[in-house]
Amino acid sequence: MDCEACNGRGWLKAFNTETKHTEIQRCDACEKYVNDREAVETVVEIYEDMLCMLRALRQDLENNGEMFGTDQRRIEAMTDCINRAKGE
Ligand SMILES: [Zn+2]
Repeated sequence: MDCEACNGRGWLKAFNTETKHTEIQRCDACEKYVNDREAVETVVEIYEDMLCMLRALRQDLENNGEMFGTDQRRIEAMTDCINRAKGE
């Protein structure tokens, strides 16, 4: 059962009224992460992986003009990354 507050991701994008900045905070409803820092580190890791995949994808598109064939391993890696971003 997914946490309703964060959809199971364990973190939320929230506006900090003290610092006046939007920041990543851990979801206090499900406490999937120990603290905000751990939540932020997880989010950064996920998006760094996504960036890597997008760069590789762009490289392929530049080289081939189109996404060719079905690279099962890459699709699985992307699916895994998307699921991690969704908290699954
Ligand atoms: Zn939650």
